[in-house]
Amino acid sequence: MSTKVMKKILVTGSTGQIGSELTLELRKKYGGKNVVAVGHKRQPSETLQKSGPFERVDLGSEESIEKVVRQYDIDTIYHLAAVLSATGEENPQAAWALNIGSLYNVLEVARKLKLLRVFWPSSIAVFGPSTPRINTPQETVLIPRTIYGVSKVAGELLCHYYFIKYGVDVRSVRYPGIISSEVLPGGGTTDYAVAIFYEAIQNKRYTCFVREDTVLPMMYMPDCLKATIDLMEADPSRIKRHDGYNLAGISFSAGELAAEIKKHIPEFKCEYKPDFRQKIADSWPMSIDDGVAHKDWGWKPTYDLTAMTKDMIAKLSKRFAEGKL
Ligand code: NAD
Repeated sequence: MSTKVMKKILVTGSTGQIGSELTLELRKKYGGKNVVAVGHKRQPSETLQKSGPFERVDLGSEESIEKVVRQYDIDTIYHLAAVLSATGEENPQAAWALNIGSLYNVLEVARKLKLLRVFWPSSIAVFGPSTPRINTPQETVLIPRTIYGVSKVAGELLCHYYFIKYGVDVRSVRYPGIISSEVLPGGGTTDYAVAIFYEAIQNKRYTCFVREDTVLPMMYMPDCLKATIDLMEADPSRIKRHDGYNLAGISFSAGELAAEIKKHIPEFKCEYKPDFRQKIADSWPMSIDDGVAHKDWGWKPTYDLTAMTKDMIAKLSKRFAEGKL
């Protein structure tokens, strides 16, 4: 059993919705200089830039990844860079090239340089219309309808393969839709569950791109960060699978979310104008059974709909009052 611990970490997709908060959380835990943020086109926030090293790396090139890994003596990679579900449908070829090309390169570097650990997020997008939609089990049908979902299924299989063939300790969860207040989401189907808060606070109205009765599994960012770090810090003996652990947080309909926001902002009005993303939402589960993650590495979420809504509104209202929203 490995007793080594993570010391030097690289985070790709560090300017994204999840990466921006995960990098800062890891820097708090492991020290700023020990967590290297990797960016692409988006300008990093001042906090991200000042709290530790920031590098631009071409994830399409194995050599570029290897160079930065050697330069900083990296032992662990959190590989978050990806093209998400809605954006992926606009350019499936680019989505496949980034999502699978960069994962392959990261796994190859991990194999060759014998890295300690890799984290790579999968998604509820691995499921499709023929998957049971309520309490979706860990082991089930994976026939998605989006290129994003296809890349996540292929990615899970590739991670599993690198573990059984080469012993690369790559760990993964199937994130549900992530709700957060720092960086806006980048082109997913669950983005409405974040946009609705910004619009409610700024304009007291929102036009939602899915139907009122659309139920999807979601998770608040503090739970997402906790799940990610708990999984990565779990003793290797507890990690029984290296494809993607089901992860559940909160399941609610768009209408229920609007009603919860209305409790804080009574004037808030929500309209529903479904677009192409409705079809994607309808092909995904409504709720997830994450019993295997509970059993293996002790996963348990903290936030329910009421607590998440209260916290989101408090954080965004404060930023709005300061003119920083
Ligand atoms: P995001 O869209 O906010 O950020 C993606 C990041 O990838 C950005 O930092 C961007 O700069 C980077 N990127 C894009 N193209 C790139 C390229 N060609 N080269 C290098 N970097 C590039 O995404 P996110 O929401 O933070 O998602 C992070 C990970 O979590 C992804 O793997 C995503 O599939 C997964 N995930 C997210 C959610 C969610 O709700 N946010 C749900 C399920 C899974």
